[in-house]
Amino acid sequence: MSTYTPPLRDMLFVMKEIGSLDAVLAQPGNEEVTVELVEAVLEEAAKFASNVLAPINAQGDTQGCRWNDGVVTTADGFKQAYAGFCETGWNGMPAGTEFGGQGMPTLVSTAVLEMWKASNMAFSLCQMLTLGAVEAITHHARDELKQRYLPAMVEGRWTGTMNITEPQAGSDLAAIRTKAVPEGDHYRISGTKIFITWGEHDMAQNIIHLVLARLPDAPAGVKGISLFLCPKFLVNADGSLGARNDLVCASIEHKMGIHGSATAVMAFGEGSGAIGGLIGEPNQGLACMFTMMNHARLNVGLEGVAISERAYQQARQYALDRVQGKTLGREDAQSATIIGHPDVRRMLMDMKARVEAMRALAYYTAGQMDRAHGHKDGATRQSAQTLVDLLIPIVKGWCTDNALGITSDGVQVHGGMGFIEETGASQHLRDARITTIYEGTTGIQANDLIGRKLARDGGAAMKRLIAVMGDDLDSARAMSGQGDATLDSMAAALRTGLGALTEATHWLLAASARDAAAGAVPYLKLCGTVIAGWLMARAAHAATAQAARGDPHADFLAAKRITALHYALHVLPEGGALRDTVVHGSATTLGLSDSQF
Ligand SMILES: Cc1cc2nc3c(=O)[nH]c(=O)nc-3n(C[C@H](O)[C@H](O)[C@H](O)COP(=O)(O)OP(=O)(O)OC[C@H]3O[C@@H](n4cnc5c(N)ncnc54)[C@H](O)[C@@H]3O)c2cc1C
Repeated sequence: MSTYTPPLRDMLFVMKEIGSLDAVLAQPGNEEVTVELVEAVLEEAAKFASNVLAPINAQGDTQGCRWNDGVVTTADGFKQAYAGFCETGWNGMPAGTEFGGQGMPTLVSTAVLEMWKASNMAFSLCQMLTLGAVEAITHHARDELKQRYLPAMVEGRWTGTMNITEPQAGSDLAAIRTKAVPEGDHYRISGTKIFITWGEHDMAQNIIHLVLARLPDAPAGVKGISLFLCPKFLVNADGSLGARNDLVCASIEHKMGIHGSATAVMAFGEGSGAIGGLIGEPNQGLACMFTMMNHARLNVGLEGVAISERAYQQARQYALDRVQGKTLGREDAQSATIIGHPDVRRMLMDMKARVEAMRALAYYTAGQMDRAHGHKDGATRQSAQTLVDLLIPIVKGWCTDNALGITSDGVQVHGGMGFIEETGASQHLRDARITTIYEGTTGIQANDLIGRKLARDGGAAMKRLIAVMGDDLDSARAMSGQGDATLDSMAAALRTGLGALTEATHWLLAASARDAAAGAVPYLKLCGTVIAGWLMARAAHAATAQAARGDPHADFLAAKRITALHYALHVLPEGGALRDTVVHGSATTLGLSDSQF
């Protein structure tokens, strides 16, 4: 059976050295959160992830969810695990204290969420969707709805969903057709939503659907979409459950991965119309959804980190156990385990280096979100928010894209056994596949990056970030290495990568919209490759300094330096090729007519 042990040392190292944990904890509102408390929270979460969630991950995959006449039954163990998850307070941990959460900083909850996603990605989606709905209700609903719904949702007694997609409206939300008709103090909702994660299940007493729909007089396009709250069971004023609402799970999808989570087709209002309450102002539904978009996209990016870590751990274990062939240079010796083969080590090093780089990027962004939320200085909050807005599509797009290659290498390390279901290696590859698709495909993230985030301010935010990275490189104290060959090699690779990023940025800003769009995904990957390379260099400097101070974890710190150098020598050079694709690639990308494909 595939096991999972959270990499607590690396998580804490990255939280402190890259996510600026100390600075986050020093912010107003975090007075009661100490480093010791954070360490204790991580250790407890690690136990739950390893002992409760990881062991049911494989049966979630093999059994999946079962649909019968609108009722969905989850795989064995999921219901009990969910009850334990809520009883121990993990469900509401990241939520604010006002409605029963623990109000942990985003940086801390990000590390904890990584563990849920790595141990059991399908299971973790239920909390992710619930907390997304909690966030939207908290920011936009009227007080009465907050009081009625949020305590039970934070506790996990009721779960939440996001009903956006319709058969004709996927990436293009302007095509949404679901209707909402006013009736007294509520609305009647009717329409079909597809692909609704955890849209129906047996783990909670009620399911609170947030639904995007159109009012009768709504303008066409995205400016005519409103957000509604539609519970599975209507909720009385005292919080008790009332009649069943007019909505039903018409079926669930048979899919490639994340079998443990139900992906539901939801039929609203097949009778008199599902009763729903408006959240926010009429026609402002998309703005309400945007409130939660940064967290949701960070969290899907984090799925890329988590599932890759899980695949890496499993491949490492297999490589340590599997005996095959003789180690090069030691042909007279007995057969050895495959971890001795340079090519297997290459795959493991690539997986490890990318996972640590992705973790650095995700935690750095989470730390900046805390800064944007709680720093005492307004200008600092604003600049952190601008940076977060820029980084989010990169975290989402780049980490999930990497996860496809990493989980595929996880299969490759297993040889034929990777292709056989019983090892579990292929589950990670299949589970990872959705991460580049939902919550906005990589193409949509890249459009957001070059359109909204880059073009909107003439590239100012990206140029500022490039300047910060350049300053770090120039700063003798931070980056020169002072005769340290490892750090010097990293600095040289990073300088080349920064040059590629600068050139591609300038080219994109001057290009036509269509040429720029043709290079958008390569540009997103270039951004991820270089920014994470910068953070890995920072990590290597921190490891070097800690080792010099006599930190007891010498082995971990030495490995961090070598891993960061591996990233600089093996991954960062991809930046040059990506730059070329952006700058020279659009002519052929756009060169054929439709009929020539
Ligand atoms: C397992 C699963 C769970 C999901 N969970 C939810 C959920 O809980 N709630 C919910 O509402 N939805 C959910 N979705 C839906 C998901 O968000 C959509 O599938 C996704 O947004 C893509 O939409 P689509 O499938 O219609 O693809 P399309 O929009 O048809 O895209 C097809 C291809 O065209 C590209 N494309 C489309 N438009 C553009 C453009 N403007 N520029 C560049 N490229 C473009 C895309 O990148 C993609 O490669 C889920 C989907 C799945 C499979």
